[in-house]
Amino acid sequence: MPHGEWVLERLLQRATATAAQAAGRRWRRIRLEGAGPLDWKPGHHIRVQVGPLSLRTARDVLRTYTVWEHYDNILELRVFDHGVGPGARWANGLTPGTEVRFKAPEGRFTVRESAPHHLFIGEETASVAIGAMTRALNGHCRSLIEVDDLADQLPVDGDVQWLHRGAAPAHDSPTLLKAVASLEGIKPGTVAYIAGEAKTCQAVKRHLLQDRGWPRHDIVVKPFWTPGRRGMD
Ligand SMILES: Cc1cc2nc3c(=O)[nH]c(=O)nc-3n(C[C@H](O)[C@H](O)[C@H](O)COP(=O)(O)OP(=O)(O)OC[C@H]3O[C@@H](n4cnc5c(N)ncnc54)[C@H](O)[C@@H]3O)c2cc1C
Repeated sequence: MPHGEWVLERLLQRATATAAQAAGRRWRRIRLEGAGPLDWKPGHHIRVQVGPLSLRTARDVLRTYTVWEHYDNILELRVFDHGVGPGARWANGLTPGTEVRFKAPEGRFTVRESAPHHLFIGEETASVAIGAMTRALNGHCRSLIEVDDLADQLPVDGDVQWLHRGAAPAHDSPTLLKAVASLEGIKPGTVAYIAGEAKTCQAVKRHLLQDRGWPRHDIVVKPFWTPGRRGMD
């Protein structure tokens, strides 16, 4: 086995998929069991091996998914079926009983516990992190989440404004930006967490900084994907 593959193999944890099923129109619920104790914070993601280990196809080996829930050595994922890509194929083809390898939970898109108020902004893929983080805040927060329509909404705690873009593309979407621009009643000290498609994230961040004078240190941004890029982490 080449050295690079050996290093990756040593980095990966193992668990067994004990559920792999539809959870809404385009969501797959994946439950991974038996990984052993993991250090997890709401908002953390894992890098899942979705293809055979090979340096020649390194870009198609790992894909990033937020941990929806972690309890009793179980990790729950929610994978959005956006249509193409090894990650989407892996989630659609996974069957219970299959071994799954992944890198331990990590990430800096987590709740800033010292903040007095929290505002979450994102689209479908971001709603997994938003769901985990708002649960940790017992719903004491606001969220703006853009999806195609009702069928793609995950259960998210707190004051949630769902935005439906309909058939419009998910990238560089004006819908979310428009809704953020018309937000009222934002309390001083609110931390804004922005995630999802990269161009939309940038547009929302720019608006908060330039039009609302939001303090830079109170904005947390994590781009999850963008057209033409594969396997962002
Ligand atoms: C920190 C982090 C956490 C994430 N958490 C989740 C999660 O919990 N659930 C989840 O479903 N996704 C999540 N994502 C997004 C996921 O990693 C990407 O959607 C990833 O591209 C999927 O891999 P793929 O192999 O299916 O597609 P890729 O091969 O990576 O991408 C192929 C092409 O598909 C398009 N594409 C990719 N994602 C989307 C999308 N969501 N909608 C429309 N078009 C898309 C792009 O044009 C891209 O070039 C997360 C990403 C990051 C960085």
